[in-house]
Parts: sequence; structure tokens; C-alpha cells
Amino acid sequence: MAKNKSKGQKLEDKLAYKRKNFWNKADAELKKEALAFSLKYRDFLNKGKTERLVVKNTTHILKKYGFTEFTSSAQKGDSKLFKTNRKKNVAIARMGKKDISEGFKLIVSHIDSPRIDIKQMPVFEDTNADVALLYTHYYGGIKKYQWMAIPLALYGTIVKENGETVDVAIGDKAEDPVFTFSDLLPHLSAKQYKKKMKDAIDAQKLRLTFGSIPYPDEDVKKKIKLQCLKILNEQYGIKEEDFISAELELVPAFPARDVGIDKGLLGGYGQDDRVCAYTSLRALMDTEKPEYTSIVFLADKEEIGSEGNTGAKSNFIIDFVADLIDLAGSDSNVKLAKNSQKIKNLSADVNAAINPLFSEVYEKQNAPKMGSGVTLTKFTGARGKGSANDANAEFVSEIRRLFNKNDINWQIGEIGKVDEGGGGTIAKFMAQYGSDVIDCGPPVHGMHSPFEVASKGDIYSTYRAYKAFFEKKVTR
Ligand code: MN
Ligand code: MN
Repeated sequence: MAKNKSKGQKLEDKLAYKRKNFWNKADAELKKEALAFSLKYRDFLNKGKTERLVVKNTTHILKKYGFTEFTSSAQKGDSKLFKTNRKKNVAIARMGKKDISEGFKLIVSHIDSPRIDIKQMPVFEDTNADVALLYTHYYGGIKKYQWMAIPLALYGTIVKENGETVDVAIGDKAEDPVFTFSDLLPHLSAKQYKKKMKDAIDAQKLRLTFGSIPYPDEDVKKKIKLQCLKILNEQYGIKEEDFISAELELVPAFPARDVGIDKGLLGGYGQDDRVCAYTSLRALMDTEKPEYTSIVFLADKEEIGSEGNTGAKSNFIIDFVADLIDLAGSDSNVKLAKNSQKIKNLSADVNAAINPLFSEVYEKQNAPKMGSGVTLTKFTGARGKGSANDANAEFVSEIRRLFNKNDINWQIGEIGKVDEGGGGTIAKFMAQYGSDVIDCGPPVHGMHSPFEVASKGDIYSTYRAYKAFFEKKVTR
């Protein structure tokens, strides 16, 4: 320091809360680790553009690291277990040194992301335009205009009448075709320009360009549609009715990329919430012999309210914990019911970092900043904390102490100014079980857009935070 600090400055250092930018605070080693971590995470994003693909890739990783799939033959003493649910959820556990009835630690994230689904009877031919298109229905909170005029990939599963399953993945390999929603040219947009932004692209415009070559037979009316069906039959062995029992999802057909001249950021589709899925998964894999049983749950359907048999409201996670209790033995169940207060839970989800282009929607003192670390969000919700979990101060204190003790770069956060809007997470559904729970994850720019951006420093801080949560004591 060139100049001695004044009395007031010293007092300020002692009393005032200051968040620190990861890149200012971290030493060379930590920065190197953060950059290396982001490469593996980027690969995870590229391999998992749908919830099914995330489960598939996660299962693959877990088996490689010696985790076994939970079956009825699971043995007492098995310490690394996982279980899947309808190929769209996975729960993973490392048994603790203490019996599970003493409580456990849980990190819950979600692996579904906003996207555009294909309808059940999708293919039609527009004879005015001589193009075949697909009807779609969007999934989750999207700004529809962001999905126009970009290349889209088609992923999913078709289950035929006989139960045979066909996996579809078109658009991410260089030789693949892609799909798109064609936007209106500016020359003819005079009327569109006058519409409200949210009405400029209505849901009926989300019709996907699918084919353009007619089947060569003058007697057939819908020749282009027939040609599309013929190709689908040749490549996937399906007929039109098979779409009824299919789950086909449109996602951006481009990989995650480094962002910025300094490569400090990572951009890509589906970081909400696969960034928390990957960081929690890695944290659990890297935690050797935890004191308490530690669980990671990757849930589906968060973007549509955690509904359905693969959403966080389903019994899957309870059943998984019951399985672990059965494995531990006799009356653990009863003891755990008395110990629900000892369940420590991080609801792992992203928050909205101050976007420099729209800084007016944030109240800067309480909003998270890009690069200032993993974000602790005490409450989410809208209109007076409506539908929020609102973590109890005691638990917030525990987590704050844990992060400070372990030198984790962290900050506080909220989703926008009061009454600017809002959002929710899985936290409130987990809180119903009586556990302590708080939202905790990295902040992003462009949430729910086809290209979400996060800081590599925040991503690594999130991993370190989750690892500390599993490894260290969390107590009052
Ligand atoms: Mn989310
Ligand atoms: Mn979301």
C-alpha cells in the first residue's frame, strides 16, 4: 500500500460488506483450476442437451467412477450408489460414516431447460408455400423471438407401439441437417413492428421448417409431407402414429463456447440448471468418505413447476432415501423422521447476474454480479415473496460460516428488483420435508435464452461451495 489508510477507511474495512471478484481474489493456481474445470463442464453441456441425455451421460460418468446402480441386491456397506427414474431423473448417494438416521446432506438441481417440444401429430404440408413443417409447443418460460432464425437440433425418444425405443439426435454433427423457425424479413415487417414485443412472435408462428422435396407421384396430394414420412420410415423405422408416443425436443444446434477476448465466461444452452447439476455431481464424486450421507438429486420438470412423475414433487427422492434407510437397517426410518431438522439441503439453481444492458431491473446492492462467486439466495418468489421458500436466518448463518471458513468466493443475490418480476426454484418443495434449505448457485446472463452466459470463476466457486457443503461440518 502506497498510502496509509485513514481511520475511517480502516473502520469501513472492518464493518462494511464487500463482495470480491473471483479473478481479483483467486491465486494463479485457483484460476488455473477454474479454467480446467470449465472445459469438462463444457463437454458435459454439449453431451446433455436434454434431460434424458444428461441422465445417460451422468450414469456413464458414475459407472466409470465406481458407483453402482441401486437394485434390490444392493448390499449393506455399498457406499457409492445411484438410482434413475424413467430415464429422466437420477439420485446419487455416498453413504456417510454416521448412520443415515442421524440426518443427511442433499443438493438438488434440475436438468430440464426451456426448449420447444414437437406436438404429437406434428407433420403438415403448407401447399401455399410448398414446405412441410412441424407443429410445436414450447416448454418453460421462453421469449419466443429468441428462437427464430437460429439453427435447431432435434433430440428425443420415440416409443413404438410394440415398445421398441428409437433415439433421435439430429443437428449437432457437422454432416447433420438442422431445423429452423423462419422469421419475417424486415422489408415486410411494418405491421409486426407495431406489435407489443411479447406478441411479435405468437405461439402459432413456432412452426418448424422440416422438408421441401415432394414425393414423385402426381396422384398424391401432400407430396412433401409424404416424402418426409418416407425418410423418417427409412431412417427410424417409424410411421406417423409413432409420434404420439414420442418425446421430441428442439434445442439450439450449436455447442457451448468461450465468451469474451479473455475467455473468462462460458456461453451455452441449458446452463439453467445443468451448471448446478454438473458442479454438484463433481462435488459428490470428489468427496471421499463423508461424515454424513451425501446425496445429489438431478430433477426434471422444474421449468414447468416440478410437476409429473419425474418432477421434484414426485415421490422419487423420498423413495430413494427410503432405499438408503432400508440398506442401513431396521428402525432408521423412525429415527430419521425425528431428525428431519438435521437434513441439510442446498437448492442448487442459477440466479440473474446484473446485465449491463438492462441494469434498471436490478437493485444493485442486493443483486448478484458476474464473477463475484456462487450466489446465496435467501428467498425467490414474486409480489411480496409469494411462493418463496425464504430460508431461515439460522441456516443462512451456517452456510455463510461454512463458505467463509473454506475461503469460498460467494455473494448474496435476489432475482431482480422488488415487483420487477420474479421466479421460483425447487427449494420450497424440499422444505416441505422439514429440512433446512437455501438456494445456492452461480449467477448468469441471458437466463432461459438459447445462449446463457456464466463466469468460469463463479462456476468453479459453485463446485468448491458444494464440495465444502458435503465435506465439512454444517452446524449451528
Ligand atoms: Mn433453474
Ligand atoms: Mn429456469
